[in-house]
Amino acid sequence: MQLEVEGLEVPYSQLDDVILKLTDEVTVKVLNILLEHREIIDEDIVNILNEGLDQNETETPEEDNIVRIALKEVRKSLYKLNERSLARYRRVRDKETGYFVYYWSPIWERIRDLIVSRRKLTIKKLKQRLDYEQRNLLYVCEEGHTPVTFSDAFEFGFLCTICGQELAQKENAETITALQSKISELEKILKTGLEEIQGIEERMEKAANN
Ligand SMILES: [Zn+2]
Repeated sequence: MQLEVEGLEVPYSQLDDVILKLTDEVTVKVLNILLEHREIIDEDIVNILNEGLDQNETETPEEDNIVRIALKEVRKSLYKLNERSLARYRRVRDKETGYFVYYWSPIWERIRDLIVSRRKLTIKKLKQRLDYEQRNLLYVCEEGHTPVTFSDAFEFGFLCTICGQELAQKENAETITALQSKISELEKILKTGLEEIQGIEERMEKAANN
């Protein structure tokens, strides 16, 4: 998923689809903004989300699908993130108005752990499936006489007990190849992701020291 927030660098390319599965598009955008700021109030998040929107409307009035994101929506997203311990807030009473102001910040360690554990879980599930497919490889002759397991095929010298023709692996060979390539693709993604995480951690440290 690509973020469409202008001028906002997407800090972590895999964060979006992991969080999207758990929440929704607005929440993903809000979380990305939190990650780019050490602390931010909800109204500023709304402003960033809607930046450049009025300008766009006058230039292309026919594009009515561009919708302003309301403060209410952003707050809902923040609560969702808070419920999942992905964001926290600091409450300060405004001396002039008497109202509370909420300063939001991301809980980076939790976000990082969530992304990594989700990726690892997907890889683990695929490996279990692969293992199952491999253990259940069937061998069959060209005529399609009774398919047998690897150990039986081995015992028969890889020859069909009915017609004597050579036995070959049955259809799940394709599934296995597909699973193997998906696993290695995900492992590569995880590796890149861990490098990206390293990068964002360094940036957050820098922001905290400023
Ligand atoms: Zn046969």
